[in-house]
Amino acid sequence: MPKTFSLLRALKDDFPDITFVESDTFRWSPEDTTVYYRENEDDGLLLHEVAHAALGHTQYTRDIELLRFESEAWECAASWLSKKYAIDIEQEQIESMLDTYRDWLHKRSTCPSCQDTGVQTDKNHYSCLACLAVWRVNEARTCALRRYQTK
Ligand SMILES: [Zn+2]
Ligand SMILES: [Zn+2]
Repeated sequence: MPKTFSLLRALKDDFPDITFVESDTFRWSPEDTTVYYRENEDDGLLLHEVAHAALGHTQYTRDIELLRFESEAWECAASWLSKKYAIDIEQEQIESMLDTYRDWLHKRSTCPSCQDTGVQTDKNHYSCLACLAVWRVNEARTCALRRYQTK
């Protein structure tokens, strides 16, 4: 059972520099040091966003960096934070979340012409070293939204 209310109170005490704002999605915003959260949802997701904040994660510039931030934040949430606040986070849940990022990265980096794996050249473009195709990828939506899509 989610106990968001008491957990939030503890988090606010322990992380006075972070602003917590209720929203329709879970998200860490480095620009305004704010964790957005859904009321009465999975407390593990809330700890995950706090982990992004505690680790000082900024906006990512490459997709691969987002994947690294995501696995670091889950690692931090599942070890330090889940112990500290006595909240269970299943390894299985973490793996399925990370899988959605891996799938997303795979889709974005696959060359539309020859299916080879391309390299990211800037935030919105990949290019293929095999056939020299260049393709544009859309702005990534927040991690939480992508995760919800897989449910
Ligand atoms: Zn995340
Ligand atoms: Zn290609």
